[in-house]
Amino acid sequence: VKRIRSFDYYKPGSLPEAIEALARYGGEAIVLAGGTDLVVSMKMKGISPRAVINLKGISGLSSIQEGGGVLKIGTLSTIHSMILSPLLSSLPLVKGACGVLGTPQVRNLATIGGNICNASPAGDLIPPLLALDAVLKIDGPSGQRLMKITDFFRGPGVTELGLYEILTEINITLANSVGLYLKHGIRMAHDLSVVSIAACLNIQEDLTVSKARLALGAVAPTPFRAMIAEGLLVGQRLSDKVIREVARQAMEEANPITDVRASANYRKEMVGVLTDRVLRKILQTYRQKSGEKKNVER
Ligand SMILES: Cc1cc2nc3c(=O)[nH]c(=O)nc-3n(C[C@H](O)[C@H](O)[C@H](O)COP(=O)(O)OP(=O)(O)OC[C@H]3O[C@@H](n4cnc5c(N)ncnc54)[C@H](O)[C@@H]3O)c2cc1C
Repeated sequence: VKRIRSFDYYKPGSLPEAIEALARYGGEAIVLAGGTDLVVSMKMKGISPRAVINLKGISGLSSIQEGGGVLKIGTLSTIHSMILSPLLSSLPLVKGACGVLGTPQVRNLATIGGNICNASPAGDLIPPLLALDAVLKIDGPSGQRLMKITDFFRGPGVTELGLYEILTEINITLANSVGLYLKHGIRMAHDLSVVSIAACLNIQEDLTVSKARLALGAVAPTPFRAMIAEGLLVGQRLSDKVIREVARQAMEEANPITDVRASANYRKEMVGVLTDRVLRKILQTYRQKSGEKKNVER
């Protein structure tokens, strides 16, 4: 553990004040949300900003609302608040990822915005948000802009956020799809992913896939969409053969490293296993849902 060097601390009450404070330090200030990544980095990795700008004094950044078929999640929404939100019940993909992130203590502090901006290849919320084509609202000195989350990540810990910019909201367009998140770690709980996968499919009554999104975590410098594997699903019925082909293709698209958690070869193998598993589980969920719907209509 390193000794944290002293720093200036601000808790602005508004977004313009926060952006102004960031600008005042000319790139030497850092934003604090829940602190579960940042404080660890300051203690263990020698990150020593000249100023820390705590966003938690800004109201309106932790709301979860739905309007016009779009779910709007404020950047300061904690993982715990997302688990409790009834609005997230229609998104098992996101709720599932929230349930396996860290421990209850971590989930009480950790925010969705912090998970995205920390840009870890193993960040649990990122694959689901990629699979849902989430859009990020970013505020900065020159106003507000929107960016697709698929364009946001540049490398481990590196994003497209500009100097003095703050992620403020995550927008998800709700659609009639079936989605699921699977995480494979060394331990059953409280562990970072060795491999993770989020899948989101639109399936027709004859089991033909009309839209497919597959996102992989912890097997490349950033979480990413396995687009060629997605292409193999579209227009096909979800048969054993198709599932096997898609799993093989997802393995091809993964580019993992060997580290303390797992070897690159093991990770690649597990991409195949998890892709196969997630597609079969989605098929099962779809059959269950359409069975329940038919029973209600009868
Ligand atoms: C014991 C432990 C277990 C963990 N387990 C997991 C796990 O299983 N899965 C997982 O994915 N993560 C895990 N984490 C990591 C961490 O909890 C998450 O990444 C969390 O979501 C980070 O959110 P935060 O609000 O704490 O971010 P912070 O630590 O406050 O910030 C993280 C980074 O993002 C920047 N930032 C935060 N918010 C914004 C914003 N709105 N705009 C611009 N920049 C911003 C900060 O400047 C900082 O660089 C774990 C951490 C700990 C300590």
